[in-house]
Amino acid sequence: MTEVSGEMVRDASRRLETWGLNRSAAGNVSARCGAVFLITPSGVAPDLLAPEDVVTMDLAGGWQGRLKPSSEWRIHRDIYRACPDAGAIVHTHAPFSTALACIGDDIPPFHYMIARFGGASVRCARYATFGEQALSDAVLEALDGRRACLMANHGMLVHGDTLSHALTLALEFETLCEQYWRALQVGTPRLIGEEEMSRVIAKFGSYGQ
Ligand code: 13P
Ligand code: ZN
Repeated sequence: MTEVSGEMVRDASRRLETWGLNRSAAGNVSARCGAVFLITPSGVAPDLLAPEDVVTMDLAGGWQGRLKPSSEWRIHRDIYRACPDAGAIVHTHAPFSTALACIGDDIPPFHYMIARFGGASVRCARYATFGEQALSDAVLEALDGRRACLMANHGMLVHGDTLSHALTLALEFETLCEQYWRALQVGTPRLIGEEEMSRVIAKFGSYGQ
């Protein structure tokens, strides 16, 4: 079982703020720990968060802690249920991904790094009210086979093997969103073809250490 502590989850939420991926109490972070997962509490800014404020939840939605879990606990719970590989989840209202999510379109293969998230596009989940099951259902649908999605009129979400992997993916995805946004300012991005994207997706299977 991967050892995860409240301190690690708290530190991850602080890192998002340091990297400019989140501000104040927006967003949430969790990490799987055996049969349970640790998740940030609802409505607490990272700099005010103590390790013991992090909430422990089971996959049935039961929780233990002195504070209530993130209002988006259903999304986290449903991803851990559906994706055995998911070890950590990051949801943010990062500036560029959120701006694109307000347009509501999927991100097409304008850059080969799109393949890093599992496919030839990153989908945008349809809008639903924050904290409701309908939003979790929309996110799970958009994530099918992917590690990232936009959330219409809301933000973005990624999942990774570990907390540090999920943080890295969040930073990489926000960077791609910024690059796409910048490209759109000066022209119409040329998209990479289906065959080449399949090749890149396969290459990412053995990329890195
Ligand atoms: P929580 O503080 O309840 O996690 O809510 C923040 C958020 O981003 C809701 O989508
Ligand atoms: Zn949110």
